[in-house]
Amino acid sequence: MDLIQLLYDVSDEVCVCTKCRLAETRTYAVPGEGDPQAQIMFVGEGPGEQEDLSGRPFVGKSGQLLTRELERIGITRDLVFITNIVKCRPPKNRVPLVDEIEACNDWLMAQIALINPKFIVPVGGPSLQTLVSKDLRIMRSRSKVFRKEGILFIPILHPSAALRSPDTMKSFLDDLKNLRAYLDREIEESEITDITPRPVYTSPSPKVTETAEVKEEGGTLSLF
Ligand code: SF4
Repeated sequence: MDLIQLLYDVSDEVCVCTKCRLAETRTYAVPGEGDPQAQIMFVGEGPGEQEDLSGRPFVGKSGQLLTRELERIGITRDLVFITNIVKCRPPKNRVPLVDEIEACNDWLMAQIALINPKFIVPVGGPSLQTLVSKDLRIMRSRSKVFRKEGILFIPILHPSAALRSPDTMKSFLDDLKNLRAYLDREIEESEITDITPRPVYTSPSPKVTETAEVKEEGGTLSLF
């Protein structure tokens, strides 16, 4: 079966998914949409009211801003894939709960594996912290390149933050310009912060009494 059909199959399954409590309150699930072979995949936190009512991602006020500004830099929505960490709207736009994110994770992982984009764009802090690291903050991480388990991530400010002030709007627009630049060239290894967790080393001996160090490529790992 071809990859595009498999992606449609994932969307069909999302639309009838009842794996978490968000199925009870949604109007429509929002699987995501765009080019099945997109080079960029945008991942937001979750559908809002307009998305819930339409079954489409990023169509509310902030979504319209994202769409408009992407078009301005030559990236139309049909060239990218847009989805969310959770596919159903949390009631009253609350933050998705951990068990809801975990329940929905298989759908997102399947979409990433099938689309295999050049890089993933976490849209906003919660998406960044879920996809890359809970220790990262969006204002310090935006427009930087992270690699985790072989996948590149380039986070941007959420367009809803851009609507709050001229300063955040400028930062948001800068993020999109930087995305355009990353898309048009090879990303240098020196630009990438690799945050793939290092393996945990344990002593081969059941009784070790002295502090030991193991030299590993690129650094020293302390065992104790
Ligand atoms: S949020 Fe995800 S896991 Fe929960 S019901 Fe919707 S599609 Fe299923």
